Amino acid sequence: MNTLGLESEAEYFAHVTAVDQLSPLLAWAEQAKQPVLVLGGGSNLVLGRQVPGLVLHIAIPGWQVIREEGGHVWLRVGAGENWHETVRRTLEAGLSGLENLALIPGTVGAAPVQNIGAYGVEVGERLHQVEVFDTVEGAVRWLARDECRFGYRDSLFKQEPAGRYIITAVEFLLSRTPELRLDYGGVREALGTNEAPTPMGVFDAICRIRRSKLPDPSEIGNAGSFFQNPIVSQAHYEQLKSSYPELVAFPAGRQWKLAAGWLIDRCGLKGDRVGDVGTYPRQALVLVNWGHACRDDILAYAGKIQACVKEKFQVELEPEPRFYP
Ligand code: FAD
Ligand code: NAP
Repeated sequence: MNTLGLESEAEYFAHVTAVDQLSPLLAWAEQAKQPVLVLGGGSNLVLGRQVPGLVLHIAIPGWQVIREEGGHVWLRVGAGENWHETVRRTLEAGLSGLENLALIPGTVGAAPVQNIGAYGVEVGERLHQVEVFDTVEGAVRWLARDECRFGYRDSLFKQEPAGRYIITAVEFLLSRTPELRLDYGGVREALGTNEAPTPMGVFDAICRIRRSKLPDPSEIGNAGSFFQNPIVSQAHYEQLKSSYPELVAFPAGRQWKLAAGWLIDRCGLKGDRVGDVGTYPRQALVLVNWGHACRDDILAYAGKIQACVKEKFQVELEPEPRFYP
């Protein structure tokens, strides 16, 4: 149940298929003084061999059109639904907005947690509100998009103590009139010059690009990008750019976002391997489990990368996946 393929055993485990199952499970955990881990598809987690306490596997289904007005559609989807299949289903229903987020593993409920993003679109732009079970108040409530404090791979759900909000459903705001975002490098080329692009065409093109660059977790264990792209000051960027004119960087407000994969590659670590852990030969930002690596092997290898990048570029790389315990 984790895409890195780490052998990991939960002390207690519950498969949650309805919101009303949460209250009694959380009451039990509190009374038994057990920590709780909320698990979706396990594609952004690095798990230890023993996971203490209660794992709540969120498998709540649901798909319901709430409202349709002026070409906009409010669609509510259960947190346990598979993300990629949900994106495909919206497009098949003639609803656009999620096409750039094709082929991201995991569940609908986890998508707002790190405000998943790819090819120039973030999920926070496409949702109206998020239904949560607030474990502090012991009640279900809706959080409007603005309350979710979405940022770059960031949200309220990462800022609050882990586990405060359990996402039970997401309400998307989608459109019957496509407004395609094609400017991200590689998307137009993958669409081909003669095609009049459709949302489904963009979905297919992005699936093609991703399949050509990224390892399929069902074949090679990985958690996607292992580090966040670092944001540096203008002065730091200028100093790096003068030493490395080919530096891959993008403006981020008054700062600069550096491509972490490029930094790792320039340290000579693309395709590097130590034991069963290494970087993927076609994308250095993806750490892979080539066999029987455990959490500590991954941690040690990530530390090696962080040290090399720090020494060469004076940049701190922060891991993107969450480590548990
Ligand atoms: P999990 O790994 O199970 O959990 C991740 C975190 O969210 C944990 O902290 C967990 O406690 C919490 N969580 C899970 N479900 C809930 C819930 N219902 N309520 C509250 N908290 C919850 N990410 C991107 O942003 N863009 C990409 O393009 C992308 N590509 C990827 C490609 C690959 C091959 C892989 C393996 C990963 C990729 N990822 C990407 C990372 C990952 O897929 C996303 O972060 C995804 O949203 C995680 O979903 P999940 O259900 O697997 O979450
Ligand atoms: P890529 O296209 O080779 O680009 C390298 C980096 O440059 C990306 O990290 C991206 O930042 C940045 N970038 C490229 N073009 C950009 C533009 N026009 N404007 C702003 N930033 C730009 O990256 P890739 O590894 O193949 O991934 C493609 C997309 O899928 C990216 O959006 C990436 O975030 C996403 N992805 C995410 C994960 C994950 O686990 N988080 C895994 C695989 C792919 P951004 O990352 O900010 O877009």
